[in-house]
Amino acid sequence: MRIVLVGPPGAGKGTQAAYLAKNLSIPHISTGDLFRANISQGTDLGKQAKAYMDAGNLVPDEVTNAMAQDRMEKPDAENGFLLDGFPRNVSQAGVLDELLTAGGLKLDAVLDLEVPEDEVVKRIAGRRICRNDSAHVFHVTYSPPKKEGVCDVCGGELYQRDDDSEETVRTRLEVYHTQTEPIIDHYRAQGLVVTISALGKVTEVTERAMEALGRA
Ligand SMILES: [Zn+2]
Repeated sequence: MRIVLVGPPGAGKGTQAAYLAKNLSIPHISTGDLFRANISQGTDLGKQAKAYMDAGNLVPDEVTNAMAQDRMEKPDAENGFLLDGFPRNVSQAGVLDELLTAGGLKLDAVLDLEVPEDEVVKRIAGRRICRNDSAHVFHVTYSPPKKEGVCDVCGGELYQRDDDSEETVRTRLEVYHTQTEPIIDHYRAQGLVVTISALGKVTEVTERAMEALGRA
């Protein structure tokens, strides 16, 4: 199966992508991982991306497209993949369409995770991260630490990342609306969009997604 996963920040996209890829036995291809892998391996594309990032600029579409193409051509992606974070705008979606068509392939579905905007803000703005280890994540409402402001795992101090402030979340949602939502319309025209609610437990959302993809 070839799937594109879309959803606003805070929809739990990364978590769902990991579970779905495992259930479907296809690689999870996220742009974040692509950037990290290319940069750490010192590939030409990685060097280009790093130069833009170091200068505080967005990595241009050409570089991202080339990294994605390169990854999709790896043997483990022969029978499918789950894309997460790519395409992030209509121009990238057009390039993806061309790549697939050139290879005689097509997408099977675009899975759209839907979360009400206020819920997104609540989820992200309530997030607290441990200063010792960013994998120690809590939430003031949904998974509060035993002692306020203190990490249950290691006793470290919990803090809110600048990225997670309500103001930043609203800005990120705005970017999502203007840049990424149009790709949903792009794929809706191709009859590929499957929308599911991303509310509820992680396992419930995964089940809902598998059912929607016809693989439950
Ligand atoms: Zn900790």
